[in-house]
Order: sequence, then structure tokens, then C-alpha cells
Amino acid sequence: MDHVLGLKCTICGAEHGIDQVEYVCPRHGSDGTLDVLYDYPLIGRHIDPERLATDPTRSIWRYLPLLPVDAGVANRLRAGTVLGTVGWTPLYPAPRLAGELGILDLWVKDDGRQPTASFKDRASAIAVVKARELGYEVITTASTGNAAAALSGLCAAVAQRNVIFVPRTAPQAKIAQLLAYGSTVLLVDGTYDEAFELCLKAAPEFGWYNRSTGYNPYMSEGKKTAAYEVCEQLTSTLAAGGHRSRPLDDAPLQAPDRIFVPVGDGCIIGGVHKGLCDLLALGWIDHMPRLMGIQAAGSSPLVAAWEHRLDAAQMQPVEAHTVADSICAALPRDRIKAMRAVIESQGAFIRVSDEEIIAAIPALARGCGVFAEPAAAAAYAGLVKAVQGGMVDPAERVVVLSTGSGLKDVAAAVRAVAPPPVIAPDLDDVRRVLS
Ligand SMILES: *Cc1c(COP(=O)(O)O)cnc(C)c1O
Ligand SMILES: [Zn+2]
Repeated sequence: MDHVLGLKCTICGAEHGIDQVEYVCPRHGSDGTLDVLYDYPLIGRHIDPERLATDPTRSIWRYLPLLPVDAGVANRLRAGTVLGTVGWTPLYPAPRLAGELGILDLWVKDDGRQPTASFKDRASAIAVVKARELGYEVITTASTGNAAAALSGLCAAVAQRNVIFVPRTAPQAKIAQLLAYGSTVLLVDGTYDEAFELCLKAAPEFGWYNRSTGYNPYMSEGKKTAAYEVCEQLTSTLAAGGHRSRPLDDAPLQAPDRIFVPVGDGCIIGGVHKGLCDLLALGWIDHMPRLMGIQAAGSSPLVAAWEHRLDAAQMQPVEAHTVADSICAALPRDRIKAMRAVIESQGAFIRVSDEEIIAAIPALARGCGVFAEPAAAAAYAGLVKAVQGGMVDPAERVVVLSTGSGLKDVAAAVRAVAPPPVIAPDLDDVRRVLS
């Protein structure tokens, strides 16, 4: 892996070889999350936007030269399996939603279309390859549900044993996925944060590879692929004569002006930022989109820290409650990367209420045909709020990341809609209810 130069602590900046350190900075423990460093000139000799445009690989694996894995191991595992289908989710123009909001250029990326129906497949795919590369027999993770379902499904695809720690309150659909895929499932009678701490202790005790978010440095690297896809997909659609609200960028790839990302642990927003930083370093895009981190009001420690200009390293846990289980986190594990993403991109953190999140589910579904789980709908609720608050210039190119399928949490969707009428099986009753 010549293209990976090492791992750098997000707190002290100390650099380590990828063979020396596995998860976090030895000096800073589980707070010391690591950045993966790359040799961009070397990578640029293997991959460029022109070659990518003709690459038939429609998955995250089209970006293999930019991923921190052994290409041989990745190619063997992905061939003919579900693992090979992670990523390259659709990016839709959403003109009707844009019209309702009074902006000109809106796009929705639907990661509910991943193999296990959430964005987390991007990260779990990397974990599965990494564990095989390092010779582990078992992979483990703590999760609010989707990271676990993603790990579980992708492990099943390649016959990889795994042990999952989830809070017993996780939605039924996510627990059902774990059981159907055949994981060893431990329902923790506690919060996600307690499940996380337990998994941290169990992994070294039993010799398991730990995928947990904001601890394993490679998860952001899987998540960054969404940023690559957004820019490639914007580029090809706009080149084909797609609607333009502003002049095209003078760069090989088109970048949005603003991206709305739901934030729990902060790994997705940190990963998207990393992907955009990679593209800037390679000279493929010419500006950094503003990253808008959306949190549920009942679980918004990053919004509070950002408002008070607090250092992410100083944040304290909150009591977290929200209908959006996937973004319910008392102390976001990837808070340092998340805060850096918003500050360095000159974006913002925004909080949305549970009512706004629930209302966003049918709004997004009706406005562009994308059915989102509450956490995913929160990104759209954040856009609504940002537009109302005058934060968005109408000509900006705006992307909303819809991170998980509405089928993940049917109970929440049902709360958002009126119950349909029950009718007798005859035409008269049809006429009666339609009139
Ligand atoms: C995990 C998740 C998020 C939040 O991602 P973080 O990396 O925890 O910030 C958002 N939406 C969905 C559907 C998720 O599963
Ligand atoms: Zn450190």
C-alpha cells in the first residue's frame, strides 16, 4: 500500500505508520482519532477524472486507488458478491422541492439504495476488507443499528464471522436484519454510548477487529466515497445539459456549493469532508462546498459546541433523545473530524426538532420520490430551516444526503401521515370516500 503514507492524530498531529498503530493515537486514547494520509502525486498517476468517466465499475471500488486497502484482497472479496455493489447510489435533481423552497438547484443523493439500505455500507465495506487483510477471524462493532446492519450484511456476503453490540431499543427492522444475516447479536440494556464502551473492551479481550465509528480510522475513508460520487455525478449530468443555476466550475469535476449531512457521531460529515479534501488535493475540484451538519434538537452537542465556539476535544456528553435513532449520540465519537469539517468548509451546524424531522419524511417522499428514515429526513429538515433562515443563496448548487431508507423505521413514517380510510369492498364506498 504505497499510496497510504500513515496515520495522523487529530489532536496532537503525531504521525504513525499503518503497521504501528491500529485504531487511535497511543497518547490520546479513544479521543485521539486518526486521519489517513495519502501520497496524492502517486495516486494521480493511477486515477484521474477522464479515466474514471469511462470506468464501468458502479460502486465504491471504482475509487480503489484512493482507498486504504490492499487492492488484491478487495478485488477477491468483492467479485460477484454484495460487497461489490456498495456505493454509486443515485443523485437526483429535485426541481419540485427546489421550487417549493424558492431555490434553483437542488439534488438528493439516495443512500437508502445501498445493499443494507443505509450509508453505513460505505464504511462497513472497508472494515470487511481490512479485517481480512489483517487476518482477523471475527469483526465487531457497536452501533445505533445501521452500522451493525451494514457490517452484518456485508459479512454474510463473504462468510465473515461477526459480533454486534446494539442498544435493545434499536428499531425492529435493524435488529431483524442482524438476525437474518446470522450475526451474533448482543442487545445491550443501555444506551448506544454504553454499547460502544462495552465493544471497546470486548474487542481486545477476545481478539476481534473493531469497526466502531470514530475509533476505527478507516471508516471515514469508506464514507468519503459519497463526496467523490456527488462530484462525478454532478459533472456528467450537467455536461449532458442538465439544469444550471450558475456557471460551471472551471475544473475537471463540478462540486456543489453546499451539502446537507445528518450528524450523529460525525463520521459521515467528517468523511465527506475528507473526500472533498482529497479532490481538492488532486486538483479535480476548485472549491470546498460548505458542509451543513444537521442534528436532532434532542441530541445536538455539536451544534451547541459550535455555537459556543467550544473545542470539540472539550465537549461533554449530553442526555440524548430523538425519534431519529441513527443520529442519537450523547458524545459524538467523531466530533473532532465533524467540527473541523464544518469550520474549515465555512458551513454551519443546525438543529431540527423531532416534529420537523417527522414532517420531512413525507415532504421528501412526495417531493422527489425518496423515502427516508428519520435521521436521513433530518438532512432535508435542515435544508428547510437553512432556507427559512436566509442561509442559502437561491442560485447555489445544493445537495442533500439521504442516508437511510424509510423502511428502516416504519413506525416513524406512520406517525408522519394521516391514516387512510377503510372502505367496504364495493364501488359505492369508493365514490363516498373520494367525494
Ligand atoms: C449513522 C447515520 C447517520 C449519522 O452518521 P454519523 O457518522 O453517526 O454522524 C445519519 N443517517 C443515518 C441513516 C445513519 O445510519
Ligand atoms: Zn495524539
